[in-house]
Amino acid sequence: SIMPVRRALISVSDKTGIVDFARGLRDRNVELLSTGGTYRLLRDNGVPVTEVSEHTGFPEIMDGRVKTLHPRIHGGILGRRGQDDAVMAEHDIPAIDMVVVNLYPFAATVARPDCTLEDAIENIDIGGPTMVRACAKNHAYTSIVVAADDYGRILEELDQGGISQATRFDLAVKAFEHTAGYDAAIANYLGARTEGGEEGFPRTYNLQFHKKQSMRYGENPHQAAAFYVDPASREPSVATARTLQGKPLSYNNVADTDAAFECVKGFDETACVIVKHANPCGVAVGESALSAYDKAFATDPTSAFGGIIAFNVPLDAETARAIIDRQFVEVIIAPGVEPAAIEIVAEKKNVRLLDVAEHWPGEREKGHDLKRVTGGLLVQDRDLGMVERGDLRVVSDRVPTEQEMRDLTFAWKVGKFIKSNAIVYAKGGQTIGVGAGQMSRVYSAKIAGIKAADEGLSVPGSVMASDAFFPFRDGIDAAAAAGITAVIQPGGSMRDQEVIDAANEAGIAMVFTGMRHFRH
Ligand code: 5GP
Repeated sequence: SIMPVRRALISVSDKTGIVDFARGLRDRNVELLSTGGTYRLLRDNGVPVTEVSEHTGFPEIMDGRVKTLHPRIHGGILGRRGQDDAVMAEHDIPAIDMVVVNLYPFAATVARPDCTLEDAIENIDIGGPTMVRACAKNHAYTSIVVAADDYGRILEELDQGGISQATRFDLAVKAFEHTAGYDAAIANYLGARTEGGEEGFPRTYNLQFHKKQSMRYGENPHQAAAFYVDPASREPSVATARTLQGKPLSYNNVADTDAAFECVKGFDETACVIVKHANPCGVAVGESALSAYDKAFATDPTSAFGGIIAFNVPLDAETARAIIDRQFVEVIIAPGVEPAAIEIVAEKKNVRLLDVAEHWPGEREKGHDLKRVTGGLLVQDRDLGMVERGDLRVVSDRVPTEQEMRDLTFAWKVGKFIKSNAIVYAKGGQTIGVGAGQMSRVYSAKIAGIKAADEGLSVPGSVMASDAFFPFRDGIDAAAAAGITAVIQPGGSMRDQEVIDAANEAGIAMVFTGMRHFRH
């Protein structure tokens, strides 16, 4: 049923758009009540409004801690129309049909570097959430408005005589999401300051992600799935990307696109990353998107079939043509897509084409990496660690040549995005072989070699990256036998000396990063 709105209470911290909205309500014969600050703003703008303290006959006290917490307000919001009419009449409680509230800016306050605990606590809104929850609970009769982007549709519905049941329910759900997020922010902040809590790792881990998309299924067809995104994230990502064309992203598409795009973001040079089953199967840097793609594809054309392709430069028509003519591709993601490239990809209407230009280049957001285990949640900082050339320590007798050094840092950046144990063979800014996800490092190295051989890529002269240290010399001996000339690895093994000796015996140049990049 449609509920008319005769009286609305407006109490907002963020006053964006509120004067126009209030005026719109007045024009539709809605009587307005407001708290101090909002009241003055409306009055000064010539909008007829009654102050809440006048309505309740009780002043705002304790620096605003108590403004709207009064039976004449809460009774007016919570009264069941029909059922509670008599008691409302008895106590002279006028019905309030709509509440327009946004809360004290708690999250913004605690984000300020100079915010004290006292500042934070003073910014815990009490009356606001109380009205929001009351009005949301009573949505059978009332409308709760917590977001300025709803002002327009409210006025439109009022022109039809009132707010529909569907809208009131939707607004109520939005309101509870709003207060849940608000209380989560408070609990996370305070929970980080208790015994057992620390900055970023509160006592209880409260999360709020918004559903972006339902999926046909999850990793497998018998698993239901949906994609939720962090509403605060502005980083270029599969979550913030715009879909230009193609079927909706599947669960595995999202996971793999994330892996591909996170990897390609790490390069300053023009780069292309092709991912299959969460692992890069080909990565390259080049003079152009096309040359990077050609090189990345050449690493492992077999695996690239049905893969995800990510670029850190806009997709041009030439490159789009090469991809579409050459291979079956699930997703292409790039910071910008030329109109001509869009037309070419359109020849394959299922290919998902994602554009992150709106957020590019963007900043890496700190945030957390979450992993569910049965009955629990593992939370860690995102792996934003990246070594620079200056961090590398040459441990071998032979110093890497300039070309080797470039290939070593390239291979290292790739290795970070390969499931452990990760081994990367690379040469000339191109992956030559990738060994991923093996339980022993030696097997990953063997697989990298086998793949290179199968694709006719010659390993001699390549460099090798390992995501973690070599526990024994056997990995280096195998690399030497394959013709590897330089190695990059974290170092830190008990047998580092034995490993360094193996490199020296083979004339291999070796650098330590001092940083490990397990990825599971
Ligand atoms: P105003 O600027 O109108 O004076 O205050 C608006 C803010 O006060 C809104 O964010 C609203 O949520 C909050 N508010 C409304 N009633 C109360 C109350 O009784 N106590 C507290 N602490 N905040 C309130």
